[in-house]
Amino acid sequence: MGEQAGRLHGKVALITGAARGIGRGIAERYAREGARVAVADLDSDSAGETAAAIRATGGEAMAVTMDVTDEAAVSDGVSAVVTAWGGLDVAFANAGIQHIDPLDQLSFANWRKVMAVHLDGAFLLTREALRAMYASGGGTMLYMGSVHSLEASPLKAPYVAAKHALLGLCRSVAKEGAAHGVRSNIICPGFVRTPLVDKQIPEQAKELGISEDEVIRNVMLKNTVDGQFTTVDDVAELALHLAAFPSAALTGQSVVVSHGWHMG
Ligand code: NAD
Repeated sequence: MGEQAGRLHGKVALITGAARGIGRGIAERYAREGARVAVADLDSDSAGETAAAIRATGGEAMAVTMDVTDEAAVSDGVSAVVTAWGGLDVAFANAGIQHIDPLDQLSFANWRKVMAVHLDGAFLLTREALRAMYASGGGTMLYMGSVHSLEASPLKAPYVAAKHALLGLCRSVAKEGAAHGVRSNIICPGFVRTPLVDKQIPEQAKELGISEDEVIRNVMLKNTVDGQFTTVDDVAELALHLAAFPSAALTGQSVVVSHGWHMG
């Protein structure tokens, strides 16, 4: 670090759900490219560890404790970053959870919980980030969609519905944000081996009455072109490209990274 200006040199980025998994990979990648990175997460211990690990390798990072479904916590977290680092250039709504259940068994509480983390969380971050970006002349909003923003799978109705809805939010931001210099794009990954996915393999095996290996081969990777998982590094590479893109030509887009599971 330091000897060469990175592609995000001088930028301030806040990423939700960045304590682990895909969000952590993006935070680390952004920091390596010179961004100051706010690692926002519900899990403050892990957020602190991730921020410390980034600093240990020469990057700049702070941990922000934030439940994205808590209006005050999101507002306070964004304010803390803007106060500390003087602005906000990139805000990434990445925090997410999964819940596996057939629709006829799904409780209203679990429906609402999944919708709240993905959709309320993305809205709250968007509103606070746009206020900061509009005040400073622009920025980039990014969302973590999924192939499930574009396709459905059984047993994941609230997740599929929330991820579809994020396309609408992303496109709305592209329309409204343009006049203020704000771009907005959404990344749609296929399956990535993170704790979120590892947890659902045995759950799906039980619901579908098949082995865990069959869940991986015949459910998760069945429609990929090569039977491969997408990796955290693949998603982080795309997240860097979208954050560093130099103009508003690229806005309102969903970009799929899924080993060809979804094409189109
Ligand atoms: P993960 O479970 O490894 O990490 C999710 C992080 O979000 C955790 O650190 C968790 O503490 C945090 N989080 C959960 N609820 C929160 C809340 N209310 N407020 C703040 N933070 C919260 O999951 P992941 O696989 O890294 O997923 C990250 C994003 O990528 C999610 O939006 C997920 O839907 C999406 N995604 C994942 C995959 C995949 O295969 N792993 C594929 C497509 C999209």
